[in-house]
Order: sequence, then structure tokens, then C-alpha cells
Amino acid sequence: MVDLKRQYEKIQHEVDQAVIDVIRSTQYINGPEVKAFQKDLESYLGVKHVIPCANGTDALQVAMMALDLKPGDEVITTSFTFVATVEVIALLGLTPVLVDVDPDTFNIDPDAFRRAVTSKTRAVVPVHLFGQTAHMEPILDIAAEHGLFVIEDNAQAIGADYIFLNGQTKKAGTLGHIGCTSFFPAKNLGCYGDGGALFTDDDELAKKMRMIVNHGMEVRYYHDAVGVNSRLDSIQAAILRIKLKHLNEYASARREAAAIYDEAFRDHPGLTIPARSSYSTHVFHQYTLKTSGIDRFKLQGHLGSQDIPAMVYYPVPLHLQKAYHDPRYGKGDFPVTEDLSNRVLSLPMHTELDEEQLQYIIRNVLSFFE
Ligand SMILES: *Cc1c(COP(=O)(O)O)cnc(C)c1O
Repeated sequence: MVDLKRQYEKIQHEVDQAVIDVIRSTQYINGPEVKAFQKDLESYLGVKHVIPCANGTDALQVAMMALDLKPGDEVITTSFTFVATVEVIALLGLTPVLVDVDPDTFNIDPDAFRRAVTSKTRAVVPVHLFGQTAHMEPILDIAAEHGLFVIEDNAQAIGADYIFLNGQTKKAGTLGHIGCTSFFPAKNLGCYGDGGALFTDDDELAKKMRMIVNHGMEVRYYHDAVGVNSRLDSIQAAILRIKLKHLNEYASARREAAAIYDEAFRDHPGLTIPARSSYSTHVFHQYTLKTSGIDRFKLQGHLGSQDIPAMVYYPVPLHLQKAYHDPRYGKGDFPVTEDLSNRVLSLPMHTELDEEQLQYIIRNVLSFFE
């Protein structure tokens, strides 16, 4: 699905040197590279504070800890997301309240969010799925109306721009109270191991999150809050600094590949190409087709037989997962999510796809229908 090897080869010289420099410096934890990456990312995103941490799941957890969410508090998010979003809500003893998504963008349906708000609701987690942001203006309005925190799960859309009705833009992840991201290798800004970060413009929240990721201490061995150990290590930070310089160019390469797929599948009766919203640019973490009238696992098998990977993100929505069973929900409760789970198929999408590979993939997708 991704070609990390070819991507690495293009920056190999710089990366190898940076990694060796960190090793020789022996400042493996919280070294100067971590601070430097933090500054670089703050300026790229146009956000006041970036707090690096160990992975995207931890970022979500730390965000909810910093907001002082307590057992019994309800947190609204979608059923059509990677499990981490809901996992941390459950882990902290909070109550996940799942809602349906928009059929075109796969992102949280603002009306469904509004309907799910109760007196116990404290926060909403819009997930910017597959590289495009959720419809943030109505979400921010509804949240403000009810005094709710907005935590953006931006693990899949770093670098995307949200476009306000007045034409102003902001980077995905910097619109809510806190943004969370992941630097897992296959993400749009991936390191060579695990990594993550939180973003906020709020000084108090930033201070608290910095403390929580570091065992709840500001002064060493004085613990003012219950924290966790969640660090981005210096080697990963050094790699991320190099890759961040290429992030816009990586997004362009993904968009170009998407445009070629679009062209080939646009009028196909069995395939619906990914929708583009008016309020977000798309950074194509995934290129996800909606199939109609076919068994997409057969299409997946057909592609697999030609050495073309294709994946179903996500085959089982969270409200139908054993671990998240909740008597309040059952099959049929989130019709859009369930329909998508039955129809989506993601094709290879990364920064190194060339014309020949794209045409090979396209030919094999089309031949399945012949
Ligand atoms: C990858 C991902 C996460 C978790 O990130 P990790 O770094 O793997 O912990 C959370 N939410 C979404 C939507 C993701 O895609």
C-alpha cells in the first residue's frame, strides 16, 4: 500500500547522517532534535504549541487527560474510524457515544453530532479520515453552543487545509482545542518507528499536556498530576525534521496519483471515486473507492493475484466490534457507516507511485469488471 523504501532512498544521505549524528550525540531522549522538530512543526502548522509524544493513540489519551474528562463523561465520535479513537475513550472510563458519518466524505455528520449531545457530553472527536478534514465550522459552532471540547484526530490528514466560508484557511488539527496526530511510518508524515504529537493554541493546556507526557512533572521528581511516559525519541525527531520539509511535495505526489485514478474510474458504474469537499483540501492518506454491485473481496483477490495490494479500511465498524459492544447500539443503527464498511476498498496510495504502476493498477481494476 505504501513504498517507504523508494521514499527513503531519495533522502537517504540526509537521513543517515541525521541518525548517526543523534547516535554520536548520545542525547537519545529529549535531545535538541526533539525541540527543533517541535519548533519546525509549530511553524509549519501555524500553531502555538506542539507537544511531541510516543504515538497517536497516546496523543488522544493525553488530550482527554489534560481536559480533565471524568468517568461518566460522554465523548462523541464516529463508528467509522481506526479503533484508537474509541479505545482511549473507553480506557479512561469515559463513555464513547458513536454517531454516523457523511456518505461522501466518510467524516462525522454534524447533524448526527448535534442530535447525540446530552447533558453529559463533554467533548467531540472529529476524525479527519483518509486525508480530508471533517466539516469543522458547524462542528465548532455546535461545540461552542454546548460548551464542548473539540479534539481533532488528525492522524490521517496532517498538512491538509481547512477552508472557512470566508476563504480563510487553517491547517487540519489546529481548529479545535487540541489536535492529535501520529507519525506511524505509513502516515502522511511518518517516522521510522512510532511517534505522535499534540497541537494547541492554549498555553495552559500546552503546559498541562507537556507535564502529562512526562509523568505529570514539570520540576523533576515533583509530580503535580497523574501522567504517563510518552516521548518522541531524538532519532525519530531528527528523521521527522527532514521529512517535514518534504510534506507538501509528498501531498502533491499523492494528489497527482489520485487524479490519475479519478480519471480512470470517474464514469465507472461499479466504482465511486473519493468525493472532494468544498471546505478541505485532500492529502490522500488513502484513496478509497466505493464499490457497487460486486464482492469487493473478490476484486481485492483479483488485484492480489497480480501483486497489487488493496485494503478494506474498515471492514467492521466500531459499534459492531466485540470489544465495544454496547446495548445502546446494534446492527442497522448507523446505516451510512455500515454501508461504507460493506463497500469501500482502498488502492495503493503513496508518494512514489509512477505512471506505469498507476496504469498497471488501473488496468487490473478495470479488467475485474470485464
Ligand atoms: C493511526 C491512527 C491513530 C493512532 O496512531 P498510532 O500512532 O498508531 O497510535 C489514531 N487515529 C487514527 C484515525 C489513525 O489513523
